Amino acid sequence: MLYLSKSKYCSAVQCPKLLWLSKYMPETVEADPANQAVLDRGSAVGDLAMGLFGEYVEVPFGDLTDMIRETERLLEAGTPVITEASFSLNGLFCSVDILLNHGGKRVSVVEVKSATHVSDINRHDASFQYYVLTGLGYDVTQISLCCLNPAYVRQGPLELDKLFLLTDVTADVRAMQVGVAERIDMLRTYMEQTDEPPREIGEQCFSPYACPCFGWCTRALPRPNIFDISGIQTRTKLANYRKGIVSFEDIEAKKALKPDRLIEVSQALRDLPPVIDREAIRGFLDQLTYPLYFLDFESFMPAVPLYDGCRPYEQIVFQYSLHCIEREGGELQHREFLAQPGEDPRRGVAEQLCRDIPRNVCVLAYNMTFEKTRIKGLAALYPDLADHLMNIHDHIVDLMVPFQKKHYYTRAMQGSYSIKYVLPALFPDDPSLDYHNLEGVHNGSEASAAFESMDKMDPDEREEFRRNLLKYCGLDTLAMVKVWEKLREVTQ
Ligand code: SF4
Repeated sequence: MLYLSKSKYCSAVQCPKLLWLSKYMPETVEADPANQAVLDRGSAVGDLAMGLFGEYVEVPFGDLTDMIRETERLLEAGTPVITEASFSLNGLFCSVDILLNHGGKRVSVVEVKSATHVSDINRHDASFQYYVLTGLGYDVTQISLCCLNPAYVRQGPLELDKLFLLTDVTADVRAMQVGVAERIDMLRTYMEQTDEPPREIGEQCFSPYACPCFGWCTRALPRPNIFDISGIQTRTKLANYRKGIVSFEDIEAKKALKPDRLIEVSQALRDLPPVIDREAIRGFLDQLTYPLYFLDFESFMPAVPLYDGCRPYEQIVFQYSLHCIEREGGELQHREFLAQPGEDPRRGVAEQLCRDIPRNVCVLAYNMTFEKTRIKGLAALYPDLADHLMNIHDHIVDLMVPFQKKHYYTRAMQGSYSIKYVLPALFPDDPSLDYHNLEGVHNGSEASAAFESMDKMDPDEREEFRRNLLKYCGLDTLAMVKVWEKLREVTQ
């Protein structure tokens, strides 16, 4: 008997082998640490959407048989809105986020997604629900996907009817029913195989999600290979792979990438000296003037807007670190900002930024688009600070450029110009510059997750996370100072 939940069905839509590996070789499925944050966000959005149709009764989460029985009881009792309604048909299971009960086995289904748009995989998800419910004899009069409205701007209390957008997918889902039946039939045989099924690497490995079994399915490929190269499109990688251009030797021999990308391939193949274009680096450094400021923001992106003027998933800066050198040979100074959890950090960030960074000074950021966009957003929000903020904005220089343009490249950068690769490549033996040696927070995602969860922590834990966040963000700008010093060093 094939047992299939809605999420497993969607895995099989992406690739049946993914479903097979998950069942028979779960050790080949690599855990993604970001998954929990995605799940938490989904459940927070789902909880909020439950109130979209007024009063509702939620089927308590627990044993599936109990959930199905409780759903039947609520339907028979005429409960008009049921959330987490659960159903089973011949080994196929699904829970429905919001079920509108019209009586006499007539229902409408609303499936909530924490995204801001409807994707194909969402339609597959809904088509599985429709298949199960109609198979059980329900008349599903409408099935809709409920996403966050990207144009919604919060002003005052949340307005659920504006925050969420419903898309009627009934016609699409009905048209997909033959495909659902065929896929389920195919899976009944497919999932009985005891030997690992063959499957060529293809688009399905990258879309709609990066497959967690990719490492396993590419285990026979040479290392490193075309898929290890960052910053080129998946379709370029696949096109080369299909032409048999897989290893770095193949890529170099066939000159399969643009010249700047071939540098990293050649570097990776042999122990070549670093590429250092001293003239180009000097040109970059010459535009910098004292006092020099090194700025880095940390932000979080709440799915549901928390503050007035915010849209879903808007980036909110909650922290920054700022290193400063007043003059040639001057002492390195440090300033920082970290908001209190639970409060709107935007005004505090904007005000302190204007106090910490004078007008008309040179500000370095690494990958400056992020900092510039956030500052522009703050300027739009606070007209009284806009002039100063935009002055800071207009004086930002991107420290990433010499690495992005490969004016400085070493094999250890592994094809990346992210500071997380550049820093250890330039300072391989300095433990004080190693992000791995930090406690609790090692990257931007962990910083966001830490800040978002801090208001639920007890005071001791919160204090510990504050310290960790300050150390992490402080290292980001210290790293920039060190990188700048290294650029100066190699041009002398
Ligand atoms: S890596 Fe590709 S072929 Fe392998 S299970 Fe995943 S999607 Fe399927």
